[in-house]
Amino acid sequence: MHPWLSAPRCFVAETPLRPGVLLLSKPEGRHLSRVRRIGIDSKVSVLNGCGEVGLAKVVSVDRDRVEVEISERLSLPEPQPRLTLLIGALKQSAWDELLKHAVELGVNRIVRIQSDHAVSEVSGDKLEKKAQRWGECMTEACKQSGNPWWPSLEFAESVEQAGESVKGGSCQFFAGLKQGAKPLSAYLTGEREDEICLWVGPEGDFSDQEYSIIEAGGAQQISLGPRILRAETAALALLARLRL
Ligand code: SAM
Repeated sequence: MHPWLSAPRCFVAETPLRPGVLLLSKPEGRHLSRVRRIGIDSKVSVLNGCGEVGLAKVVSVDRDRVEVEISERLSLPEPQPRLTLLIGALKQSAWDELLKHAVELGVNRIVRIQSDHAVSEVSGDKLEKKAQRWGECMTEACKQSGNPWWPSLEFAESVEQAGESVKGGSCQFFAGLKQGAKPLSAYLTGEREDEICLWVGPEGDFSDQEYSIIEAGGAQQISLGPRILRAETAALALLARLRL
């Protein structure tokens, strides 16, 4: 971890980060003053989710409002390979857990797929509201873990649509329960990939037709061992294996 990231962290939607004084109101100011209990002259690191980190000093604290002055900035490189998770829509509690931990592990892109057997069905206005809450949840996870890269969260109405969003020639795997699947290590040759796409089914699994689409797109099946894992466990195990 970069040493600047060990200071209390806050998040601003500003690109590029500019040197100078920055006013943080709720919820960032509140978090710093009430949870992290920072005071005047405390060091704070400012993340913008686009890889930039600002080293700042607190110049004023007024209940939920905190002013910090950014003195230095740096840009951290995006972790390699880029990791894209294409996953069936999970029920609320599982989805929240998945999001938090996937961001901690450094996922770059998540595609939530309204697949055939998905238990959770969120669309229209409800999806817009949820997307906002999920965005906040990802910001929290970036802040908590010192991840300077905010992943993108996208929505696909079908496996087909999700597949269309994968760049041609990308390295793709799907976690599957069919006989004969090999572990991920059988495919990792040590060659550096720019991007790895990981398909994971929802609680009710992908349908046969969806698996045919995924395979036709060039994804190879991998096994995660002899036990049936929850979808979120499967996704997080894969991200951890590839990122850590
Ligand atoms: N409903 C299915 C059943 O009971 O057989 C289980 C689906 S599982 C909860 C959800 C997803 O996790 C699967 O679609 C698959 O992508 C992944 N998964 C779980 N365990 C796995 C394993 N041992 N190997 C590969 N993938 C696994």
